[in-house]
Amino acid sequence: MSEHTVCQDKFYRAAEFAGPQRGLVYLIGAGPGDVDMLTIGAVKALRQADVILTDELVNADVMQFVSEQAVVINVGKRHGVKSTPQESIHQKMVDLARQGKCVARLKGGDPFVFGRGGEELEFLLAAGVAVKIVSGITAGVAVPAALGIALSHRELSQSVTFVTGHSKPDGCQPNWEAIARAGGTIVIYMGITNLSYITDQLLAGGMDGATPAAAVENGTLPGQRSTMATLATIAAAVDREGLKSPALVIVGQVVMMAQSYTEIERRRRTVCGSGNGSVRAGQEVL
Ligand code: SAH
Repeated sequence: MSEHTVCQDKFYRAAEFAGPQRGLVYLIGAGPGDVDMLTIGAVKALRQADVILTDELVNADVMQFVSEQAVVINVGKRHGVKSTPQESIHQKMVDLARQGKCVARLKGGDPFVFGRGGEELEFLLAAGVAVKIVSGITAGVAVPAALGIALSHRELSQSVTFVTGHSKPDGCQPNWEAIARAGGTIVIYMGITNLSYITDQLLAGGMDGATPAAAVENGTLPGQRSTMATLATIAAAVDREGLKSPALVIVGQVVMMAQSYTEIERRRRTVCGSGNGSVRAGQEVL
């Protein structure tokens, strides 16, 4: 067992037995947007927290679960307001925990999927702060599901690649050629602004331009918007529809499933909402 693992183990146990959970940081995933996708663990942790540090992707409705005395600090950026630098978020968590506060660090989706939760965990452990991780449902799973896309439908895909379209400027880039060759479903986070470049890379890697592709903005939320196209045309479709971040791009044969699902959903909503004819409002028509 490495020194790092022993250290983690010690602090996880400290978190488990911390009683009233003083001086503890919960790293919480708030899910993709829809409040119904918060876990019970997240709600329990939020109820206990004295201070909540929340990100821009977190649905504000989640705050209905925090205690009345809790202080909520938004450290994300929205509407052009600058976000808090990552280093000062790290330090703030440590300072609050050392003051004996129970801190909830709330992030969209899952904290460890393109969420910088790994860096935060490392910093907290190095500072000797007890941490408890509360996983969330990542957008890459829930958003395709909201369109009826089964990422690994047995007949259509034997693998799923989650990849970021936005890497650290000086850091490693995804190996698009290898991803293209893998042949399963590809789920691209943060890919919307760089989408022409990404699709060009996948095509250069040998993928068929006719492969179905979808882009979904604000998935699982009331403002959800999506467009369906092919790998060769999805970037133009996103431009035409004006889809913006946060949006997810899904590429692969499984995307075909979305068309039948959205059509069935549309028919169901039309019939359920009409309240006349042979089908009564609210009656299931699937
Ligand atoms: N930790 C998060 C991802 C953070 S990266 C998670 O596990 O889901 C932010 C990116 O996630 C966005 O740019 C977008 O690509 C994707 N994303 C998050 N929420 C989304 C949503 N409701 N609809 C579509 N994409 C979303």
